[in-house]
Amino acid sequence: MAIAVLVAVRLLVFLSATLKSLASIGARSATAMAEAIHYDLLVIGGGSGGLACSKQAAKLGKKVAVCDFVKPSPAGTTWGLGGTCVNVGCIPKKLMHQAAQLGQGIMDSVSYGWEVDPTAVKHSWETMVGNVQAHVKSLNFGYRSELMSSNVKYYNAYATFVDAKTVKAVDKKGKETTITADAFVIATGGRPKVADIPGKELCITSDDIFAMKTTPGKTLVVGASYVALECAGFLHGVGFDTSVMMRSIPLRGFDQQMAGQIKTYMQEEGCTFIEKMVPVSVEMAPSGRKLVKWTSTDGASSGEGEFDTVLFAVGRDVCTNAMGLDATGVALNPKNGKVPTVDEQTNVPHIYAIGDVIDGDALSPPSALTELTPVAIQAGKLLADRLYKGATEKMDYLGVPTTVYTPLEYGCVGYTEEEAEKTFGKDNLEVYHTYFKPLEWTVPHRGDNACYAKLLCNKADSERVVGLHVCGPNAGEMTQGFAVALKCGATKAHFDRTVGIHPTNVEWFTTLTTTKASGESAESTGFSLRVRHCGESAAELIRR
Ligand SMILES: Cc1cc2nc3c(=O)[nH]c(=O)nc-3n(C[C@H](O)[C@H](O)[C@H](O)COP(=O)(O)OP(=O)(O)OC[C@H]3O[C@@H](n4cnc5c(N)ncnc54)[C@H](O)[C@@H]3O)c2cc1C
Repeated sequence: MAIAVLVAVRLLVFLSATLKSLASIGARSATAMAEAIHYDLLVIGGGSGGLACSKQAAKLGKKVAVCDFVKPSPAGTTWGLGGTCVNVGCIPKKLMHQAAQLGQGIMDSVSYGWEVDPTAVKHSWETMVGNVQAHVKSLNFGYRSELMSSNVKYYNAYATFVDAKTVKAVDKKGKETTITADAFVIATGGRPKVADIPGKELCITSDDIFAMKTTPGKTLVVGASYVALECAGFLHGVGFDTSVMMRSIPLRGFDQQMAGQIKTYMQEEGCTFIEKMVPVSVEMAPSGRKLVKWTSTDGASSGEGEFDTVLFAVGRDVCTNAMGLDATGVALNPKNGKVPTVDEQTNVPHIYAIGDVIDGDALSPPSALTELTPVAIQAGKLLADRLYKGATEKMDYLGVPTTVYTPLEYGCVGYTEEEAEKTFGKDNLEVYHTYFKPLEWTVPHRGDNACYAKLLCNKADSERVVGLHVCGPNAGEMTQGFAVALKCGATKAHFDRTVGIHPTNVEWFTTLTTTKASGESAESTGFSLRVRHCGESAAELIRR
């Protein structure tokens, strides 16, 4: 009897403790729910896409927040609001490219009568970085005030999904905010990869170069991506001994004839290319430099060299693996962590993705040009309009123009020649092309056949222009307008009927007559250049 009473008492004590603890859990979660701040839309990532999407949604009357947080690079570099483009991408890159172009301009100026001693011209890395960073900081400030004036709540905090409708945002002091939302946009972009080799911690990436306080000195750029060649281009252009180590081809994914043209130009300008090699280790040499050892891709040979700076530009990883996406059910491409989307919507209907994180291969049709600022911006704005304005326009990932800011700039829109051959058939493809020498280059006697323009036309469709490629000064400025023409379905006849603007480089597109199929030379000669610059193309004169 006494035992039965004891058991009953213990049971009561246990039950009351359990009830108490359940009540306290309930109270805690009620507090947490009370603390959660709810938005119509939470955008994760305050870069090109995220900022555009959040501002547009707020403009349409929605309650919107953005979480943006920059984890420092392994070398310790960090930056402000605006994402890759503003801080460690397009903007500082183009400004440093401009610094290099100005150096070339100073050399050319001597032929134009400027009394400059080219041997006495010096470049200050510190001044350039200081001024470029001052501009970047002004943009960071501008983005913050724009968010404020657009009524977008900004959390400078790292966002992690707790479940499909709840995010935990942690700021740099560790303060946590719980945010719930009806819809989420993942716009977290990517970060540079570094090869996993001994000594990788001695290397930097594009996340570091633009804010580097000390001069880079003799630099090895590892990789042949557009980021690699652009960085190598401006580093060499402002006076550093620069080498590029390539495992295979330059500018994978771009038209390979154009890629070759750019590489040749860079080599002729004095950039060293270490081809078919991969780095195996980096260590500090007694000289204080970095000793890089490398081996050939077939393992048959090896080499080494000392550099002040080793910059990896071997591609980028998207930032999707440390934000709790597994708690949401959002599917990722297991190969690269990218987010497959249909009209920017993931497989979880209220979670969307824009910008660099989306899986271009999973688009229909696939696109290799998803990782660009204007693509992220346009996709973000259109998404907000579809979500909150009843708009129906979808992002068109085809016909995206772009430019590579190598010393010889390269602009393109549409298919590469390789893709066009596969898509339309070699027999259906007419390639009109010409080498050209900008008029500005004649007086300082710069290269005759460095610049090149080609139009890819589909003969089976009234010679519709399906690709346009140009290497030359201001290629980006040349290409943008043609992208509009291609969107409107321009044919070769439209180009021929268009009157050129003389004397420009872009007018070559209005007078293209030589086809690749004809086998005729597309190279410019001294004579053709002279007559061309008198206002008539050599080809036209010769034909008469
Ligand atoms: C060197 C270089 C040069 C380039 N040049 C050009 C060019 O000339 N033209 C062009 O069109 N494009 C260029 N690009 C590409 C362009 O910068 C990107 O395509 C563009 O910035 C992508 O925008 P996004 O919104 O997808 O992401 P991002 O701009 O990368 O922004 C993502 C933001 O999200 C933050 N974030 C990530 N995870 C979280 C999280 N969990 N919580 C909170 N915040 C998070 C990141 O820190 C970052 O601030 C260049 C890129 C590089 C690297």
